[in-house]
This record gives sequence, structure tokens and C-alpha cells, in this order.
Amino acid sequence: MAVLDVRLYGDPVLRRRAAPVREVTPEIEAWLDDMVETMHTEVGIGLAAIQVGIELRMLVVDEGHGTGRAYLNPVIVEQGGEQVGEEGCLSLPGIFADVRRPEWIVVEAMDRTGVPFRRRASGFLARVLQHEIDHLDGILFIDRLDKVTRDRLKRKIRREGFPAEPAVTGVRL
Ligand code: ZN
Repeated sequence: MAVLDVRLYGDPVLRRRAAPVREVTPEIEAWLDDMVETMHTEVGIGLAAIQVGIELRMLVVDEGHGTGRAYLNPVIVEQGGEQVGEEGCLSLPGIFADVRRPEWIVVEAMDRTGVPFRRRASGFLARVLQHEIDHLDGILFIDRLDKVTRDRLKRKIRREGFPAEPAVTGVRL
């Protein structure tokens, strides 16, 4: 296993739409292992493949106790309610903001062996999954903010860049 380089905001790969996984190959299994290791090393709770430069629709989420569940070709098929909570992103170190999202979702995906599954998530896990699925379409959490807040954060990043060693205090996805 290996820790992969997490791409930072400004890298064009983060704005691309990832391609569907056609088949689970040994290479993809190895990437998923590396993504889980990278997520834990970077103290994140979720990681989309595109964040490490792999342009495939897959992500890993820590669902507790140091796990790393893989979601391949995830699609949100139902959603409802509303929640507001703070998010950060491994690709935007040191940047945190409150994001409004649906409270619950139902996701259909394949697991790391290619077997389809369906999962209902609410609250924090629903937030993590929505954040990661957004990455697969080139969407970052700052895109979900109101324009004033978004522009303020973009100016701050342009002016100051990212902190060299951001404090790991918030939720990084
Ligand atoms: Zn993120």
C-alpha cells in the first residue's frame, strides 16, 4: 500500500467529471487500498479517487473504527430533508464552512468486489457521501456556499494560499 498525493484546489483534475468503473481490476483494488491508507494518513473521513488524480467514479469513507468502505459508481437515488453542518476538504486544507445539504439520502453503488448494494444514510454520513459524490462531478464544497461566502474564501486562498501545516480540527472530506 502507498500514500498518494492529494491534489489541491487549483489543480484542474478536481474540476473534471470522473468516468464510471467498468470492471474491478487488480489495479483498481490496489488503488482502493491506497486511497484508504491515504485517507487515514491525512486524517480524512472520506476521499474521492479524483482527489488523488484517479479519474474514476469511486470513493472511500471511514464509517467508524478506522474502516474504509468503498463505493464504486455511487448514485444518489433518493434524498430528503435538510441539514447544515461544517465541512472541510483534504483538497482545501485549512478551509472550513457550513454547507446546507439534504438530511438523508439513499445511495446505490458497487462494493469493492463489484457487488451492487444500496445504503440509506442520514446526518453526518449522508453529508460525507454527498461531499465525496460531488467530487466525482468536479464539484467542491465551496461551490455549495452562498456567493458572498464563496468569494470571500476564494479571495483568502488567493491572498494567503493554504496553511503549510493546517491544524486538524475540523472535518476533512
Ligand atoms: Zn473533499
